[in-house]
Amino acid sequence: MHDPIPTVTFPSGITVPALGQGTWNMGEDRGRANDEIASLQLGIDLGMTLIDTAEMYAEGGAEKIVAEAIRARRDKVFLVSKVYPWNASLEGTQAACEASLKRLGTDYIDLYLLHWRGNYPLEETVEAFESLKEQDKIGAWGVSNFDIGDMEELMEVMDGGDVDANQVLYNLGRRGIEYDLLPWCQHRRIAVMAYCPIEQGRLAHHPDLIHIAKAYQATPAQVALAWLLTKPGVIAIPKTSSTGRVRENRAATDIVLTPDDVVALDAIFPPPDARVPLEML
Ligand code: NDP
Repeated sequence: MHDPIPTVTFPSGITVPALGQGTWNMGEDRGRANDEIASLQLGIDLGMTLIDTAEMYAEGGAEKIVAEAIRARRDKVFLVSKVYPWNASLEGTQAACEASLKRLGTDYIDLYLLHWRGNYPLEETVEAFESLKEQDKIGAWGVSNFDIGDMEELMEVMDGGDVDANQVLYNLGRRGIEYDLLPWCQHRRIAVMAYCPIEQGRLAHHPDLIHIAKAYQATPAQVALAWLLTKPGVIAIPKTSSTGRVRENRAATDIVLTPDDVVALDAIFPPPDARVPLEML
């Protein structure tokens, strides 16, 4: 048994687990599909019921993997998908959402995000999101890779204040958002979804993290996730196609970092002391 997964509540009142599962790179190779499906299913069974995908991932292939993983478990899952910026016009968003729903084998997406900012006016995308909500095709909407200036612009748009989440690059080694974007979102209770929480696996090999992890009989990846889970309003979405690593990532909730280790982590991975433009991967 593990400690319960902390939760995050969106401005709209929806509550989700702060530890979910990513799907980037899934659906690329049919030979890996069974492992990908099994990993997602185990993750759901262990409480990591938030699944993050996008029409971009394997050009719809990841959504098809998710469809197989959630077929008999749809009601347990909080499903997140994303629209490409070049599809994010009024009609394009509607069509992209319907195509995602078809691939996902479901009739609603719980949270639908604009993947990054493109050329369509935010007004248009927000209008499309609000319309999809009225049609019950999505439960809520948000954005991704929006820096503080983008968020401020969004607030000026009609219904822009209905945004529930901003998904951005955030991990021990990428702390720029702590200077302004993270507190800005936290103040408004807009959830921050931390993508690449293990820096695409690289933090799992960081020598200083290996040292700190040993004291907890944990792994560096678990320390990286446990650190993110201490941040209010932050949701970590690690991706793995290995059931062993699903168990490992889930067990990150059992680690309670000591104040001394938090200080040590700050020394190794210093927080920003000035504004840093939002990084993207
Ligand atoms: P992660 O930081 O989640 O790292 C994933 C990589 O780390 C994979 O190669 C995985 O390999 C490996 N890994 C996972 N768990 C462990 C572990 N415990 N120990 C060692 N290695 C591990 O990177 P992602 O880029 O996948 O980011 C997470 C999710 O965020 C994505 O899958 C996607 O859903 C989302 N995302 C969103 C973006 C956006 O623009 N909105 C951009 C990038 C990501 P293996 O599978 O072999 O275990």
